[in-house]
Amino acid sequence: MKTAVLIGCVALASLPAQAAATTNQAALAARLAAVQQMAPADFTVFAEPPFVVAGDEPAAVVRQRSRQTIRWAVDKLKQDFFQRDPGEVIAVWLFKDEASYKKHTAALFRDKPTTPFGYYSETHAALIMNIATGGGTLVHEIVHPFMRANFPQCPAWFNEGLGSLFEQCCERNGHIHGLPNWRLPALQKALRGGGVLSFQKLTGLSTEEFYGGESNPHYNQFYPQARYLCYYLQERGLLVRFYREFTAHTAKDPTGYATLQRVLGESDMDAFQKKWSDFTLNLKFP
Ligand SMILES: [Zn+2]
Repeated sequence: MKTAVLIGCVALASLPAQAAATTNQAALAARLAAVQQMAPADFTVFAEPPFVVAGDEPAAVVRQRSRQTIRWAVDKLKQDFFQRDPGEVIAVWLFKDEASYKKHTAALFRDKPTTPFGYYSETHAALIMNIATGGGTLVHEIVHPFMRANFPQCPAWFNEGLGSLFEQCCERNGHIHGLPNWRLPALQKALRGGGVLSFQKLTGLSTEEFYGGESNPHYNQFYPQARYLCYYLQERGLLVRFYREFTAHTAKDPTGYATLQRVLGESDMDAFQKKWSDFTLNLKFP
């Protein structure tokens, strides 16, 4: 355990010497007061910096989720990836079940969610979750406001690749570690069948194409392909380095493709695609 902490400290100490921005206490207190006023009476509301948490499960359960999922994920993501807290204080709403999720997204936000799990709303500066579906989506969604604060130019493929990598995760050697998950079988099926995009094409997708490219025959593989590219980088010990080099060189390499080639040390990306495909086909889930 001591070694794990040490590894974390060494990694942090080697980061560039720009000050880590921490959440402004006055902004946190103001958002806490606003969420307390907005939340129905049976909700538990408290600050879990840099967030404010509100939930309608029993208070002890909300606090335990906050500590075990939110506090843990924030600390681990900051340890390896993100130096700056989100620029505004985000409220994390943990609705206890589907009925509560549907009722409160309508009553509090006038939203009609397109996903049963939960989502990040920039408009409401909120992570809005149906927590009955598990904590995985919560960790995924926590990545997005941190990415926005630390890497605003991040293309959708890497934003969603990293977010979805950690929707199934554990702690390994003191660091956050993504695991194979439910997105694997469909990707393997695609790899055995019609194939997927080249990494040059995947990384070159615009935000509009990534989220709205239903007409692309590989649309359903965008998220899993991005996730399992991040997983491959993680398993080769290259994910943190890729993130840091990509953020440092984003003006020259906005898609990340050149950085990917450099970090992988691959000159022949067709050969790499085959290598990655074989690696992915050998993974198991469940
Ligand atoms: Zn996402």
